[in-house]
Amino acid sequence: MEHKPSQDRRENCDTPSERDAFSVAEARRRLLDAVSPLSAKESIRLKEGLARIVAETVSAPFDVPPHANSAVDGYAVRSVDLPKQGRCRLTVIGTAMAGTPYRGEMAAGHCVRIMTGGVLPRGCDTVIMQEQAERVGDTINVGNDHSAGQHVRRAGEDLSAGQTVIAAGKRLTPADLGLLASLGMDAVTVTRRPRVAFFSTGDELRTSGEPLDEGAIYDSNRYTLYGLLLQTGAEPLDLGVVRDRREALRETLAKAAAQADAVITTGGVSVGDADFVRDTLAELGEVFFWKVGMKPGRPFAFGRIAQTWFFGLPGNPVSAMATYYQFVQPALRRMMGERERSPLHFKVPCATTLKKAPGRMEFQRGVLETNSEGKTVVRSTGEQGSHILRSMSEADCFIILPAESGDVPAGTLVDVQPFAVL
Ligand code: AMP
Ligand code: MG
Repeated sequence: MEHKPSQDRRENCDTPSERDAFSVAEARRRLLDAVSPLSAKESIRLKEGLARIVAETVSAPFDVPPHANSAVDGYAVRSVDLPKQGRCRLTVIGTAMAGTPYRGEMAAGHCVRIMTGGVLPRGCDTVIMQEQAERVGDTINVGNDHSAGQHVRRAGEDLSAGQTVIAAGKRLTPADLGLLASLGMDAVTVTRRPRVAFFSTGDELRTSGEPLDEGAIYDSNRYTLYGLLLQTGAEPLDLGVVRDRREALRETLAKAAAQADAVITTGGVSVGDADFVRDTLAELGEVFFWKVGMKPGRPFAFGRIAQTWFFGLPGNPVSAMATYYQFVQPALRRMMGERERSPLHFKVPCATTLKKAPGRMEFQRGVLETNSEGKTVVRSTGEQGSHILRSMSEADCFIILPAESGDVPAGTLVDVQPFAVL
């Protein structure tokens, strides 16, 4: 059991005598201070780069676009030829298509038919939209309502030579892949993905495919963690289920630490189990058991086995996910060299009442939606037990309630943290 209500007061994280009790912010800060970026980098094909972290700042080797070109279909003209009053007639002497420039000379009174993306012919500085030019044979008739430079995309307007295009530490988005491609690049240098070994602990756990004997449940955490790790951009290494036996735990932990940059376990860190796990971990490395002032997810272990970081998450499926999002993911991102940014959160009215007892910061599960007045509101997924994984499946955000908060009436502004950007 993760915690008993009767222990809440005694183990309240606000009690100054609890030397190992931290707030969520404090626990996260300690983790981020401890881990440092992995130094290894690799060059990969651009198409493999989505969501990877750029290891070396990329600067533009040349201007994009490389040449001034037209933003519309129309006629390229010299602005000095345009009438101050009335209308004038210009002679069409050639055509500039996208990819096929007009290479001839331009003289006074000349213009060139130009298509969107066509290179602006030498001497021209302005484009007249075709809708605003009256074509008569080889000439166009143009009015006085134009300004010099209109409808021209200048060279280097998107990226200018030497400019930083993508700074080291950025997670590559689809736009970034295109931006790098616009510079003619087909490879990008990214940081190595951390290899993260993980396993579940518990005598009651079975893996899908195995029969469920009495008292047993299927292991869900390993599947959730696998997905979370992929989403974070780490390389998951599934080491299965480990029984609540000292030797089995020791053996698997040592194996995990030998082949991974980080090890994540779920289960076995709550009050009843802690001693047995603590002893085993103490033999292999240095691990601290933290009481973090959050619900769900108070028991949390962090430490090191040789060169490998260790994260011991609570077994309850929602607690495991909440602690992963709040602590493990930021730590892994730092290991990947990703630029640090504080998690996005914002306030919206809560459409439902929320039950809460003062004491710990709560990460309740919510669904963001648009109400009948067109306003964004959040509603609770309902029952908030830390064993109710369905609440995470239905939710798209955490509703974060501060430690001191009690029950929250409907209509109150609450802080939400969308999963999509966690
Ligand atoms: P523990 O942290 O080991 O005391 O586990 C707390 C609760 O979470 C117990 O009800 C366990 O059965 C459950 N639990 C632990 N690990 C898993 C898992 N991998 N999948 C689903 N439930 C789990
Ligand atoms: Mg257990």
